[in-house]
Amino acid sequence: MITPIEATNTYLQRASKLLGLDAITIRQLVIPFREIKVECDIIRDDGSLAIYIGYRVQHDNSRGPMKGGIRYHPSVDIDEVNALAQLMTWKTAVVNLPYGGAKGGVSCDPRELSQGELQRLTRIFTQKIHDLIGPSTDIPAPDMGTNAQTMAWMMDEYSKFKGYSPAVVTGKPIELGGSEGREAATGRGLLYAAESLFADYGTKLSALTYAIQGFGNVGSWAARLLYAEHAKIVAISDVTGAIRNSEGIDIPSLVEYVKQSGGIKGFAGGEAFPAEDLLFEPCDVVVPAALGGVLTGENAERVQAKFVLEAANHPTDPEADAILQEKGVIVLPDIYANAGGVTVSYFEWTQNLQQFRWNAERVNKELRHVMQSAYKDIREVQARYNCDLRTAAFALAIDRVARATKLRGL
Ligand code: NAD
Repeated sequence: MITPIEATNTYLQRASKLLGLDAITIRQLVIPFREIKVECDIIRDDGSLAIYIGYRVQHDNSRGPMKGGIRYHPSVDIDEVNALAQLMTWKTAVVNLPYGGAKGGVSCDPRELSQGELQRLTRIFTQKIHDLIGPSTDIPAPDMGTNAQTMAWMMDEYSKFKGYSPAVVTGKPIELGGSEGREAATGRGLLYAAESLFADYGTKLSALTYAIQGFGNVGSWAARLLYAEHAKIVAISDVTGAIRNSEGIDIPSLVEYVKQSGGIKGFAGGEAFPAEDLLFEPCDVVVPAALGGVLTGENAERVQAKFVLEAANHPTDPEADAILQEKGVIVLPDIYANAGGVTVSYFEWTQNLQQFRWNAERVNKELRHVMQSAYKDIREVQARYNCDLRTAAFALAIDRVARATKLRGL
C-alpha cells in the first residue's frame, strides 16, 4: 500500500516536472525543515503511567511562519505527519497566505481519555515543543481529535514560558482571542470552493445530492451549510456508523442527535448501512471529510458521483486519482478544497497580532474572496498546462514556494 508521504511526493514530482524545476530545487522542497519527536508521559486517572509519542514536522518556512494542525489519533506516525506538513506548505501557498507548512500530532485515542487526561497530555506535549513553536515561527491549530479547548490549553502552557501569547495557536475559543467563524471555516470554505467549481460546470450547490464521510468539525459544518443552501444530503457516516435517506437527511436534527448520543448510529431519520460503503453511494457529490487514504486503487472504480470534494487531507491516493480521472470524475483537491480553515486561522492570527477583532460578516466575506481568487489562479494554471485540478493546484503552490526559496538564497 502506498504511504501518505509517497502519495504526496508523487503529486509534487508530477507538478514539478510540469514547471520544469531542477532536481536540486525539488530536493529542497521535499526534505522537511525540521522533524521533532517527543515522549509525552502522563498519569492516567486510575494512577497508572501512560506514555504517548508526539510529533511536529516543520516542512517549509520560505513564505512565512509555519502553520498546521495538531492531530490526536491512533494512526499518527512520523510518515503521516510528514505528508500532512508538506500538504500544509502547498495549501498555504495555493491560497496565497504568508505562511509555510507544518503538522503535528500525538499517537493516542482521544475518545479513551478523560478531559483531565487530555489536558495533561496537551500540556506535556506543549512543554516539550515550546521552544520550537511561536507566533513568528510555527503556529499550531486544531485537526482531527483536537478542538478549541485543546488550543486553549496549548496557549496557556506556552504562555507560562513566553508570556501571554494568543497568536501562538489558532482555532482558540472566542473568549481567548479566537476568531468569529473559525469553527465553521473549513466547511464554509469548502462550500465557497464548490460554488466556483459547480458554476464552471453549469450547476449549483442546491441542484446536487451529497454523501459525506465524517461528521466532525469539517463534515458536520459542511453538512449544516449545504442543508442551509437547500442541498440534499443523502448519506452520512462517522466512526459509529452510516445512514442514508434518498429524500435527504434532516441535518439540524442529526446535529442534535449526535450531541446527545455521541455518534450517528441509531439516528431514526435514515436507513443504516455499512460505513465502508459511504463513498460509493449513488449521488452527485462525494465529500470525504474524515481520514486520509480512503480512495485507493482497489475501490476508486466504485465511485458513482460526478464530483469529489476533498474536505479531508490526502483522501485520494495517486492510483485512485488516475482511476477517477479515467472515469471523468472531477476531483477538487484537498490543498485547495479544505483551505478555508487555515485561511480563517490566518485571520485569527492577524487579529491577535493587531489586538483587533473582526465580526463574522467580515471574516466570511474575506474567506469567500480568498477562496474565489485561489480558484481563479488554479484555473489559469490548469489552462496553461492543460492538466487536472490537483496538478494545477500543486503547480501553482510549488511555483510560489520555489520562487520564495530562490529569492531568499542559501
Ligand atoms: P474531527 O475529529 O472533528 O472529525 C472526524 C470525523 O471523522 C468524526 O465524525 C469521526 O467519527 C469520523 N471518522 C473517523 N473515522 C471514521 C471512519 N472510519 N469512517 C467514517 N468516519 C470516520 O476532525 P475534523 O477536524 O473534522 O477533520 C476531518 C478531516 O479534515 C481530517 O482529514 C483533517 O485533517 C481535515 N481538515 C480539518 C480542518 C479543520 O479545520 N478541522 C482543516 C483542514 C482539513
